Amino acid sequence: MAKRVYEVWKGNNRFLCYGRLIFGPDARSLFITISLIVIPVVIFCVFVARHLLHKFPSYNAGYAILVITIAFTIYVLVLLKLTSSQDPGIIPRASHPPEEDVSYDSSILDSTPSAQFPRMKEVMVNGIPVKVKYCDTCMLYRPPRCSHCSICNNCVERFDHHCPWVGQCIGMRNYRYFFFFVSSSSLLCIYVFAMCSLYIKFLMDGDYPTVWKAMKQSPASVILMIYCFISMWFVGGLTGFHSYLISTNQTTYENFRYRSDSRLNVYDRGCTNNIMEVFCSRIKPSRNDFRAIVLEEHPRPPDIHPHELEDDSESYPRSKVQDDLSIDVDMLKISQRHNVEEFYEETGGKSPSSFHNLASESKGASDFNTPLPITESKLKDFHQDRIVDKPVRDALEKSSFFSKR
Ligand SMILES: [Zn+2]
Ligand SMILES: [Zn+2]
Repeated sequence: MAKRVYEVWKGNNRFLCYGRLIFGPDARSLFITISLIVIPVVIFCVFVARHLLHKFPSYNAGYAILVITIAFTIYVLVLLKLTSSQDPGIIPRASHPPEEDVSYDSSILDSTPSAQFPRMKEVMVNGIPVKVKYCDTCMLYRPPRCSHCSICNNCVERFDHHCPWVGQCIGMRNYRYFFFFVSSSSLLCIYVFAMCSLYIKFLMDGDYPTVWKAMKQSPASVILMIYCFISMWFVGGLTGFHSYLISTNQTTYENFRYRSDSRLNVYDRGCTNNIMEVFCSRIKPSRNDFRAIVLEEHPRPPDIHPHELEDDSESYPRSKVQDDLSIDVDMLKISQRHNVEEFYEETGGKSPSSFHNLASESKGASDFNTPLPITESKLKDFHQDRIVDKPVRDALEKSSFFSKR
């Protein structure tokens, strides 16, 4: 049965709802984070807000305190969900190294391409050259601001940091939600702290004239005030730090790196533009479709035995992904077989046995050994024009490339 992308995912992510939700490997910490929000709120509603219900008889403001608390908590939890359960901006791994950068050393008899990549490339950002690194794991040159998260094992665009509290990378696609989550949590702390203080004040105005007596009467208020005070340092500090980062267009990762390198921030476009970039720009759609079906085919040309083809030691496995499209596999096999036959005709009607010679001449032809990618457009090509299949064209192109050597 065809597998879906999330079932063969090479990163360390966890998936839920059949690939609809993606988490980091440490997603369990979400339970702790949710508990740290929900438990204090429940204590507040039961032991504090309940007693404030009838304190403002004229406007029913007592009920408003309870409703605001519940609504605001739900809002914070929704932001937490948006931050933790979606693609932070993962760049899909390449199935093979970038071919144009592989140097083929002709002095080496073995045809294995010696993968000597320049480890760095220079790209221009706002007229200033920026170095981008090659990622061995993802087999791609990371775009500027992209970094490989060692915890999730993915390259993430505009990588900020991996947050253990939300169990997810914070990157291009969830940074906005992360900031709203942190800042809203700070506001919730301030709100609960203020309401607990108000309750203590009411107690002091009533039957408990001193602070100590009032606090003794409502230990829950005291515990909540201490808890909110400590939390406020944490989430409030984060909010302040990220406000600074947003206004200067830096990521946490860059901030630490720039500080050590005393490097120029090339992304800074002025405070207003920087803020607009984070909050007002459209969030790019995900580059990954975790529920897409992975189709990997290993067809061989008919009547050609594997040993007849010269073994190309570097046959990069290629697999392509297709959106929930059900494909008649038999039809595809016929399609590919047909294309191979056409290929023979086009190469001067060489019989399958003489194909061995061609394969010897051109290593590229042994790409038939590699899984042929199947895409919707290719199917269309077959049905409409019956043009030569792309892998065959690739093989032809490659044969001319290799013959240059
Ligand atoms: Zn990577
Ligand atoms: Zn991560």
